[in-house]
Amino acid sequence: MPLDPVFAVPLWAALPVAFVVTQLANVMTTLYLHRALAHRSVTFRSPLEFVARVVLWMVTGIDRREWVAVHRKHHVFSDEPDDPHSPIQRGVWNVLFLNVVYYRREARRDDTLETYAKDIPADRWDRVLFSRSIVGLGLGVGLLWVLFGPAVAAVAGAVHLVGYIGLSGAVNGFGHWFGRRPHDNLATNLRWLAALTAGEGMHNEHHHAPRSPRFGRTWWDIGGKLAGVLARLGLARLHESGRSGRRETVAA
Ligand SMILES: [Zn+2]
Ligand SMILES: [Zn+2]
Repeated sequence: MPLDPVFAVPLWAALPVAFVVTQLANVMTTLYLHRALAHRSVTFRSPLEFVARVVLWMVTGIDRREWVAVHRKHHVFSDEPDDPHSPIQRGVWNVLFLNVVYYRREARRDDTLETYAKDIPADRWDRVLFSRSIVGLGLGVGLLWVLFGPAVAAVAGAVHLVGYIGLSGAVNGFGHWFGRRPHDNLATNLRWLAALTAGEGMHNEHHHAPRSPRFGRTWWDIGGKLAGVLARLGLARLHESGRSGRRETVAA
């Protein structure tokens, strides 16, 4: 006889569950992959960093070295032909819907990781656990199954997958296409997108000062606020280095 879920909830509860999981994935993406690893503007204390790696593995399955390498290349070649996912080069709808394809294509290139993530060697945990995306995502869905049952787990997992991939495509596509450009770069600020992506939508602010832990001085940068809370709790350090120019070097 199958075990009863911990929480007996109706099927519609899959939507708020998916929303929470997607927001968790967005927070891990912006704080750990983006600000801590790709730009070195935040340093997590070791226990918290490991927790971030486990959660990231279970809610996204992303290989941190691949994400960092593709993203750093985006900064080096922003909206030029070698940008892995520029809407100006490839079309905004292509980037919105095919972002994962562009990402995978760039991550698979022989020289991408070697050039752009050489400061992040794969450690034992990467080799044994975190490189196995399917295992991480399977554990994530399994946890939802135990908590809410198979139907809610399946629907929430599917909605989360579409939501997370869609929002990532929106940041890369819309975030270099339309919106406010208070600073002199081609990225844009979209408050509605920032609200849904823990601040990633303040993309013009980010390209203006890529090595700042904050994407502008605004409440819409939720990730920056969370980083400040972690710093006050002694769980992270912020590295304020201000503006570093439009074209970044490879090294973070
Ligand atoms: Zn960008
Ligand atoms: Zn960045």
